[in-house]
Amino acid sequence: AEPLLQVSDLRVHFPLQAGLLGRNAGTVKAVDGVAFHIDRGETLGLVGESGCGKSTTGLAMLRMSPLTDGRIHFDGEDITHPDKPALKRLRRRMQMVYQDPFGALNPRMKVLDIVGEPLRVHRLTQGRAAYREKVMGLLEKVGLKAEMADRYPHEFSGGQRQRIGIARALAADPELIICDEPVSALDVSIQAQVINLLEDLQKELGLTYLFIAHDLAVVRHLCHRIVVMYLGRVVEVADRETLYDNPQHPYTQALLGAIPIANPDPEVQQHFNPSLSGEVPSPIDPPPGCPFHPRCPHATELCRREAPRALEIEDRHSVACHLHDPDRAQAMAGNL
Ligand code: SF4
Ligand code: MG
Repeated sequence: AEPLLQVSDLRVHFPLQAGLLGRNAGTVKAVDGVAFHIDRGETLGLVGESGCGKSTTGLAMLRMSPLTDGRIHFDGEDITHPDKPALKRLRRRMQMVYQDPFGALNPRMKVLDIVGEPLRVHRLTQGRAAYREKVMGLLEKVGLKAEMADRYPHEFSGGQRQRIGIARALAADPELIICDEPVSALDVSIQAQVINLLEDLQKELGLTYLFIAHDLAVVRHLCHRIVVMYLGRVVEVADRETLYDNPQHPYTQALLGAIPIANPDPEVQQHFNPSLSGEVPSPIDPPPGCPFHPRCPHATELCRREAPRALEIEDRHSVACHLHDPDRAQAMAGNL
């Protein structure tokens, strides 16, 4: 079947201006050649450390960040350069749930008008009574009380505010919801409740999710398939079971804390922190070759020079690493 969403060769680059003269001070390659698809009814995880371009990718799908290059198809339609009516249709069918429910909710608006905003924008209800009834129904759907419609965001806990954000995302009956780290700011016990809610809603409403997260722990129970990003590129894509049981990219292995450090040389170990608590290189003029090479225990001369291509190493499992490229095996072996 045709995927609900297809992204190919997506690039989002920003020129950096320096000083009063506005000299070009480099290019931020926030997203640098990303490709993936999302099937209908699936939850696709998009995982990577902060600055890897995952939020920018989510915003690009909603057509809220400018594209430097690439194509995006939604339900068979090319939405790379949508005209105004197409963009409006898209904004109804694709919704976003943000990380920070505080920042995303207007503190001076009642929950009634926060959750109902998409209903007003897209004129989906007629008359105040129907509007109110619809909002109350949405609140109940996310596990809140209908009467909460008349309260303000500050009267709610973090978990409740995230439920309000989800209710708003549901208001226009979307097909795809982009969840940008929706539980990262919540306590662990509350995280589980919100994730269970998202799962229940998916089953009930047939929703498709893109779930953005900065580590692999959160997406473990929710996602069917996972895309791992590093410095603006996709490094590995696999079904959940495969990714956790048989990660093949050195970065995914490091994220999972399961890297075998073959080289006992303390210098090498020092440069490669298995917990990855070290700094992510800047996406401003990222390193040449494989972007992971400064932190990779397997890096060779080739890695410093040439970017690896993404190859399908088995069914539904692709990796962008020279170690998995048969055409690069000799060059890699010669250097190890
Ligand atoms: Fe490491 Fe080289 Fe593979 Fe990059 S291409 S992940 S540097 S082995
Ligand atoms: Mg982010």
